[in-house]
Amino acid sequence: MKRISLLLVAVFLSACGPPPEPAGITFVHLNDTYRVGAVEDGNAGGFSRVVTLVRELQDEGRDVRILHGGDFLYPSLESQLWNGLQIVDAFNFMDAVAPLYAVSGNHEFDRRGPEQLIAAVRASEFDWLGDNYTFKTGAADVDNALQRAFTFEAAGRKVGVFALLLHPDDGGNERDYLEYTGDYVAVAEDTIRMLEAKGVDLVIGVTHLHMWQDVELAGLKAKYPKLAFIVGGHEHEPEYSEGSDDAAVVMKGASNARIVWAIDVDFDASGQATVNERKVVLDRSIAFDPDYEILANKWRSRLLEKFPFLEARVGTASVPLDSREVTVRNEESNWGNFIADQMRGAFRDGKADLAFINGGTLRIDDFVEGDILFEDIGRTFGFSSYLRKTTLTGAEFREVLEAGYRGDGPSKGYFPQVSGFRVCIDRSRNSGDRIVSLQVPVEEGWQEISDEAEYSIVVPDYLYRGGDGYDIPKDRPATPPGSELKYLVLDGILAAQAMGEQIGAPVDPANPRFEQLSQDNDRCFD
Ligand SMILES: [Zn+2]
Repeated sequence: MKRISLLLVAVFLSACGPPPEPAGITFVHLNDTYRVGAVEDGNAGGFSRVVTLVRELQDEGRDVRILHGGDFLYPSLESQLWNGLQIVDAFNFMDAVAPLYAVSGNHEFDRRGPEQLIAAVRASEFDWLGDNYTFKTGAADVDNALQRAFTFEAAGRKVGVFALLLHPDDGGNERDYLEYTGDYVAVAEDTIRMLEAKGVDLVIGVTHLHMWQDVELAGLKAKYPKLAFIVGGHEHEPEYSEGSDDAAVVMKGASNARIVWAIDVDFDASGQATVNERKVVLDRSIAFDPDYEILANKWRSRLLEKFPFLEARVGTASVPLDSREVTVRNEESNWGNFIADQMRGAFRDGKADLAFINGGTLRIDDFVEGDILFEDIGRTFGFSSYLRKTTLTGAEFREVLEAGYRGDGPSKGYFPQVSGFRVCIDRSRNSGDRIVSLQVPVEEGWQEISDEAEYSIVVPDYLYRGGDGYDIPKDRPATPPGSELKYLVLDGILAAQAMGEQIGAPVDPANPRFEQLSQDNDRCFD
């Protein structure tokens, strides 16, 4: 009798095949997210779509973890009211669906004092990670909440994380309530050794650094083969560096979860991990999660309670004004043109010759189309931006402006939107020597800027003070910071509205403000 039942069990097992392998881990990675809702008029990105993706992966049996590469509390329209607590609420929602682990980005420390960070960390149910920095807020519960050499169990495996944040020397925020320790590679190595001592099966890096720094860290895989991948933030368009035996794969997504990464990690019988990564575009083909939408609607209602005028029309756009991050950080934007044009008229003593603004100041990540709402202005300027006027010689200006075209890769927050001049660059040349032609208007057309002549120029105070790598000479008179850009732009729109005029013009390919040489285009302004 016993024998027969055992036989039956054996037959039954063979009919079903071998027992299923335990499913592996899938990491969903996002970075640089500022909105509770989606962008591009609801058509792109957003946490609601992230939740849908996570639930689909869970339905496939994957053990899902959400990783965030930093920059989420600020800046945004909502952050001016709630200091990022609206994003903490959204992260807590996601954390309940699949555990979320986040490294701080520089923007988590936009506020000068620690009070808002204390509130954000206390409200967080997800984990804050950091190995090269510590919180010194004076609130012990908050300072101790930051996880170092963090480990967690997933799919029956122990995973260790090192988490690194941009140092003030590289563009990070310097604050009294924040302390940085050591260099990135040394801290990563120390942390990996601690994690290995804890017996982890796998090591991953979650960072908020420049891409080249992540690529350097990826080389640690040669020495520490358990290092599977590094995911990061700070850049706003996707970045990728291929993996090998000697280098971990490096990935960054697009801002506002327009593009995220899904990274499968599976283990064979010997415990060897294989990593399979894929980019996931979160567009209209991915539905909103109905439960998350309740949260999103709650914050929308609160916003409208605070700013009942938000949906009021202040003007009309003559053409779609492209203020998507992929545009304002890479090329000429007609919304950027309008804003830079307004800047030249910011001060009473006449219109300045030149103006420029870093594309990273423009945060709306959307088209401004048809009716221009107060909300479009509020979302474009996620923080206050005061302007200054000074003078530069043509030669000085050329040197200052080179900073806007330095570095490699797509999407730079320092990429300038300009007015009063046109510029042509060659990216095949070395950083600092890429401007081929820099021209100003004259009566009959354009001519190369004069090295010796003095030009008046308006820039945001942030850039005047050396922000985003612009080194503006300070040995001549400059106005104090004045004229808040948000209201200057609103003023320009209202003035046009009063005249019955529409705002904006298409970027004119025959008369561009910015041009880039390439194989198909070897002459400037031709
Ligand atoms: Zn950042």
